[in-house]
Amino acid sequence: MGSTPNKTTEYKICKRCIMDTTSDPNLILDENGVCNYCHEYDSMYEERKHLRENGEQQLRDLFAKIKNECRNDEYDCALGISGGVDSSYLLHLAYQYGLRVLAVHVDAGWNSEIAVQNIEKVCSKLGYDLQTIVMDWPTIKELQRAYLFSGLANQDVPQDHCFIASVRQYCKKYRIKYLLSGWNLATEGILSHAFQQNAHDWINIKDVYKKCGRGRISLKKYTHISVWNHYFGYRFFYPVKEIMPLCYIDYSKKDAIKLLEEEYGWKYYGGKHYESRFTRFFQEVYLPKKYGWEKRRDHISSLIVGGEMTREEGLKEIEIPTATEQQLREETEYILKKLDVTEEEWNSILSAPNKTVNDYKNEIGLDEFFVKAKKMIIRK
Ligand SMILES: [Zn+2]
Repeated sequence: MGSTPNKTTEYKICKRCIMDTTSDPNLILDENGVCNYCHEYDSMYEERKHLRENGEQQLRDLFAKIKNECRNDEYDCALGISGGVDSSYLLHLAYQYGLRVLAVHVDAGWNSEIAVQNIEKVCSKLGYDLQTIVMDWPTIKELQRAYLFSGLANQDVPQDHCFIASVRQYCKKYRIKYLLSGWNLATEGILSHAFQQNAHDWINIKDVYKKCGRGRISLKKYTHISVWNHYFGYRFFYPVKEIMPLCYIDYSKKDAIKLLEEEYGWKYYGGKHYESRFTRFFQEVYLPKKYGWEKRRDHISSLIVGGEMTREEGLKEIEIPTATEQQLREETEYILKKLDVTEEEWNSILSAPNKTVNDYKNEIGLDEFFVKAKKMIIRK
């Protein structure tokens, strides 16, 4: 499935994980054949080592501080829940520590049935309030359609940006000071730089829509984070602090799935972020066909370096197709029909040149300016 390396690049694969030149044509191997992603993973692991030392006690102390600070508020924290492994397990963990959580789910119109049931099962068993925000369908549809025509790699940006913005908006509305994030090194430590794109970039989203959209919507109904809110609002005026509890524990995806299945009747849906049908199409069809990149290679590499599976197991797993050709064809038809894209247009999308974020207006310069300014302030 489209995993042939770029013809102009000599094929290389890491000896420790399975990152290769299809994941990143600029993959760098050291003298032992170990890639730059493994080295980056190791340094992130070192940086976070102090969190795992006596991690449970640290978490207990941290949550006790949060509970005390928020004792007069309605909630201690918020959590964006997708129905996937990490966010579902995180809600379970929060309950173990007695946190009062507002679970927020954003429905972009692509939820798999399993994802919806998972969210309901976990929230109702734990007795947590669940706020479901349904995105304005004509808006998300036109934005996602524009992204398909943009030639950019990260087709999840329109969904992800709105997820982030909506959860933050709820934090502001309910005066919630803490936000729990399911980010963790074990399942997300390795991700190719070659095709990455920041989901925070509102300027970029607007420009993609201007250049590739049909102009049918105004984006007024799209919940977003402006540059102002991104750099100042959520840091100084109504600060929301993000906490990553899974970095404090020995998080194992396998064990998390087992616990969720046993305690909540939760179901696994087959792949990283496949709780959204669009994300599944983006990762299984769009990326391999247009970019020759199988994102699950990155995910499997994270699990190998994190010790959850061996390299041999990883190599075997990547060879097993996640779906039959027929299933992928049906899934593609479903997505294209829903987004109003004809077969002819789809073929032109696939054959058009690939683009990078620099082909559109973006916040990268502004971002670098703020990072430099922050460093200067810290130094002073
Ligand atoms: Zn590697």
